Amino acid sequence: MSPERERADGKIIGMPASPGIVVGPVHLLLWEVPEVSHRIIPDEAVPAEVERLHGALQSAKARLARVKSRAEGHAGAEEAAIFDVQVSILSDGELIKSIEALIRQNIAAEKAFDLVLTEWRQNFARHAQPMIRERVGDLTDVHIRVLSILLGLPDHDPVDVPKGSNAVLVTHDLTPSLTVQLDRDAISAIATDAGTRTSHVAILARSLGLPAVVGLRDATIRVKSGDDIILDGSSGVLIPRPTQEQIAAYTDRAAREANDTAELQHLIGVEPITLDGVRITLRTNVDLPEEAEAAAHSGAEGVGLMRTEFLVVGRATMPDEEEQYRAYKRVVEAFAGYPVVIRTFDIGGDKLPVGGYPTEANPFLGWRAIRMCLDEPELFKTQLRALLRAAMHGDVRIMLPLVVSVDEVRGARHLLEEAAAELDGRGVDYRHDLPLGVMVETPAAVISAETLVNEVAFFSIGTNDLVQYTLAVDRGNANLATRFTPLHPAVLTLIKRTVDVGHMNGLEVSVCGEMASQPLMAFALVGLGVRQLSVAGRSVPLVKRIVRGVSAQVAMEAANAALATGTARESEAELRRRLLDAFGDAQFLRDGLPESVDGNTFEGFGGP
Ligand code: PEP
Ligand code: MG
Repeated sequence: MSPERERADGKIIGMPASPGIVVGPVHLLLWEVPEVSHRIIPDEAVPAEVERLHGALQSAKARLARVKSRAEGHAGAEEAAIFDVQVSILSDGELIKSIEALIRQNIAAEKAFDLVLTEWRQNFARHAQPMIRERVGDLTDVHIRVLSILLGLPDHDPVDVPKGSNAVLVTHDLTPSLTVQLDRDAISAIATDAGTRTSHVAILARSLGLPAVVGLRDATIRVKSGDDIILDGSSGVLIPRPTQEQIAAYTDRAAREANDTAELQHLIGVEPITLDGVRITLRTNVDLPEEAEAAAHSGAEGVGLMRTEFLVVGRATMPDEEEQYRAYKRVVEAFAGYPVVIRTFDIGGDKLPVGGYPTEANPFLGWRAIRMCLDEPELFKTQLRALLRAAMHGDVRIMLPLVVSVDEVRGARHLLEEAAAELDGRGVDYRHDLPLGVMVETPAAVISAETLVNEVAFFSIGTNDLVQYTLAVDRGNANLATRFTPLHPAVLTLIKRTVDVGHMNGLEVSVCGEMASQPLMAFALVGLGVRQLSVAGRSVPLVKRIVRGVSAQVAMEAANAALATGTARESEAELRRRLLDAFGDAQFLRDGLPESVDGNTFEGFGGP
């Protein structure tokens, strides 16, 4: 377990999730069901209490209408539609009748509402139909919202934060209904108790360019709304109620970081080539179609991973073929002339749509990614048709997530053929010969690499999941963050094996997990023989600088030394020593590494 987490200097330490420094007021969002005490009312008070219930339901509807319209403005109509489900719950005749019945038994409105909602949530959670089980999240939101009104508690919806506030949103976790409320003109940074660097909230924050610190565990009970706070998304630190000196120091650092970023801009046009002449292909990860144009100017040679599930996460309905086609086409056109690797839906784990998805005991071992797509052929073929059509506009390559066996590839190929036949039937133009590749992100895929090479055109190593499944460390569990160690020699061994088998069989092998974006780890990957990296947009120049500043030979020696160690800490020390020899103690090498409790960022990383 981690050592003391709030230090004498007042810092709260979490995981760096999205870089950048923000100094602003806290917007604390405690989205939890409040405690309700039992209150008996006299017979004569019953009619007024029923009235009070209806008043609260009306206020909640009015509130949701406002939240929805604000969310529509900055997140889009489809995304904001998730609030419709909650509005319909507020009008549910059966629900209202049950609450009224309890009030008529002399139970106060808030307790009656609390009892019925608790019972409904339990029943929904146990329901045989996944569609019904998934309504639990909406019921919980309604439960909190109406109780807050009945109890006269303050309303914290982030949509109310005025534009220009520069607020730091501090909350337990970012649910889909909260995500769509994020107005970037009002909220400048995010801090969550839950999550890790590879969890959905972190990936989304990076995509949105919002500085974020996650895995803070208890920040929501350590900060107060309205207090000033410093959030440092590069080292994963919060400083509540900072002193003038701290504000000055961080403002200075923010300026230096901005300067560093500006300095790196000159690398946009240069080639990622090592000192000894090894050419690395550097692509970028795109999570939202809206990012495409900016990402295309980062100096990346195409997209190594487009995560399509962000078209679905937080929405109540699946995007149809046309909407998907437009989204993929937008990315393909932004990267004209370069490959765009589009990954089919990796829904599940911590990336969930609203509704229609089963609640699972172990979502990361559950009905996720290619498993779900093969079981839902119509949903999958809709995506495949959109991809085939988008390929008319550029070099689209299709990538399958979470593959553990070659029959999944065969199943997907079969559905791809059906999708093509359906387009033929409609007389719609599409491209036939799309390369089909797989993500190597399970130990099974690594071990089966020799069989997979016969069926696919490329490998892309998803280190976020590969680390999770190899070390049996939940990537989203903040309590395990120091055990999530990509430089563990077991992980490096699996990466090397994948690279060797892929290259021996003439396949391109890329790495698109977060490892590729972190300078020290990118150095390790080059040393393991990886020649293609796909990194977060902001990391393109940073990783280019690493590649241009080292020789592949030195990287290989460092990686071999790391492979020969027994622990992540030793492996990291071997790599770090050699990289620092090449670069000196450059601040930028620390990017993405968490600040340890003793304040020594670089030394502190590694885990057991
Ligand atoms: C990975 O697992 O490394 C990866 C790139 O996919 P995701 O983070 O979306 O699971
Ligand atoms: Mg993955």
